[in-house]
Amino acid sequence: MSGQRGSSAACSHRNTFAALEVERSAEYRDDAAWLAAQRAAPNARFVVFDAEQRAPVRDDRLLWLDARAVPAQARASLLGLDGDAPVFLLHDLGGVSLPDAEWITLRDAGLRLPSSEAGLLAYARGLANWQDGMRYCSHCGGDLHLISAGHRAACARCERLHFPRTDPAVIVIVEHGDACLLGRQAMWRPRQYSTLAGFVEPGESLEDAVRREVREEAGVKVVDCDYHSSQPWPFPASLMLGFIATAAAREIHLADGELEDARWFTAQQIVDGVRRGDLRVSSPLSISYRLIEHWLLARAGIVLDEVAREAPGA
Ligand SMILES: [Zn+2]
Repeated sequence: MSGQRGSSAACSHRNTFAALEVERSAEYRDDAAWLAAQRAAPNARFVVFDAEQRAPVRDDRLLWLDARAVPAQARASLLGLDGDAPVFLLHDLGGVSLPDAEWITLRDAGLRLPSSEAGLLAYARGLANWQDGMRYCSHCGGDLHLISAGHRAACARCERLHFPRTDPAVIVIVEHGDACLLGRQAMWRPRQYSTLAGFVEPGESLEDAVRREVREEAGVKVVDCDYHSSQPWPFPASLMLGFIATAAAREIHLADGELEDARWFTAQQIVDGVRRGDLRVSSPLSISYRLIEHWLLARAGIVLDEVAREAPGA
């Protein structure tokens, strides 16, 4: 079934936040002497966020702090090595100021920064999100403290270890014949449609999650699905796992109330709708956009970026 579905590896690298060039260097996370030397190294770089979780940029490039700008007592977590340059997440800005910086959200970073910098920020933000929630042990209520260069939390009372969590979610473009299934939630901006998505539940395979979500949200039976690509989505801790699925039939029943509308769109209907402004697809930031892009190209030879450029207000 997957003859025209293209290379997953190539597609995955195009997903925003998926292009991390930093080597995580996990084997050094418990080496205190190595960490101290790296922290003080002249080529060390520190990623920072402000209290609103925004990152500093200048001319659409990420601004780093170097070791001279970072107080010796400031808490920092090792993100890894960029070539031979150690990269850290600085936990708070303290008294450090960046007068010329423009502070932007991670979503804006995904649209504006080079892919490797957006990927690094997503990694740093995901780790910081987890650390921010690690105050008390979920087992005994004791105080937690970070160990392993910020990648583990240990309980001071029961010594239990806590690990960063990632929440897998499936996202799927469902096709039947010459059309694909897109849906919209009532809270979205008008005329926006997206691929269907939902969190994976305990004890569930990814394929079963695809079948369940499509059935629950649209009442459509999936008979087959193939993996496409993945995208880190640290808002706060998701990993989006993209699939292309085939439906048994086109009848739609909005079963669980999550969607306000779901429809089958042919490639031409997507093109016409986007050009006229009757249809908005998700941001190019999202794997939803990449799945629709992939489907249009594979099924109709249409390049979504070119169509989107012709949209009103694009
Ligand atoms: Zn505990």
